[in-house]
Amino acid sequence: MHPARALSGHTLLTAVFGDPVAHSLSPAMHNAAYEALAMDRAYVACHVTPERLREALRAIPALGLLGVNLTVPHKERAVRLMAQLTDEARLLHAVNCVINRNGELHGDNTDARGLQADLCDQNVTVAGKLAVIIGAGGAASAAVLAAIRLGAARIVICNRTVARANRLARSFAKYLAARGGGRPHETIEARGLDALVNPTTVGTAGIVINATPMGLKNGGFTPLSYASAPNDCTFYDMIYAREATPFLAPAIANGRRAIDGAGMLINQGVLAFELFNGVAPPPGVMRTALMSALGRT
Ligand code: NAP
Repeated sequence: MHPARALSGHTLLTAVFGDPVAHSLSPAMHNAAYEALAMDRAYVACHVTPERLREALRAIPALGLLGVNLTVPHKERAVRLMAQLTDEARLLHAVNCVINRNGELHGDNTDARGLQADLCDQNVTVAGKLAVIIGAGGAASAAVLAAIRLGAARIVICNRTVARANRLARSFAKYLAARGGGRPHETIEARGLDALVNPTTVGTAGIVINATPMGLKNGGFTPLSYASAPNDCTFYDMIYAREATPFLAPAIANGRRAIDGAGMLINQGVLAFELFNGVAPPPGVMRTALMSALGRT
């Protein structure tokens, strides 16, 4: 817990909108960076329900908020409510950063860059490998983009609703085709969650990424053939917790590398801080704040 800082009549605000939002660790990270930079700014968590998202976004210029992070369930709905979108937010069809530029709302998305940076920090090799991505929402979309940028040879998207996985695969096939020089679209495939018990799905995987909330609450994770994965396969859960998540615990039990989403959260937070404030947070400050909030040293 950070010591309370004195707020002044000049204090400028940034925020996160979510539903629920009280569990968010973003305030701890951003406020630690403000503290370290001695900036008269503060970051607050606002509980915004889906019905009031439009109103809450409209209030950003009125209240003079510098920028706002969006979390579940607002990222996709906010796309239509921005005055401008970056190419990345448009491609991912999700906004996780809203920047107030002279009263105009600009939507960006730092999830793919945050994941990519964490995979690089952790020396996870994706180039030339198969990436299996579980989920087909905004976070999965970011994982597909990160895997493409890191040079994955093949991507398999597994989702509960197969039609949604198909849509995601098609949209990235178009992206690769439009980009030119991309790999053929057959390299992105869609499957149901039942494919995860088939040993051939993860049998040659370099990385398996969970981009769903499965395991976040009390429920378990969908059955997966962990033992079929190569010994050097990395299991990456976008969820982060004090204990090993239900997706990661069997990977650890099977001797595979397991990484949770804390590093992704830090890296997307560093990028958001720069977008909102125009300066980078001091190195390591946001990481230390998050690790301390998670009870890790
Ligand atoms: P989302 O758009 O709501 O997508 C949810 C995805 O999860 C969909 O593919 C959905 O399948 C699937 N799903 C949901 N509940 C399920 C269940 N009970 N069983 C099987 N599949 C289920 O959410 P999102 O924004 O992509 O976020 C996904 C997760 O990533 C969240 O837990 C979020 O907190 C985490 N995340 C972490 C970071 C980080 O920095 N570490 C960043 C972004 C997101 P259907 O299509 O069948 O509904």
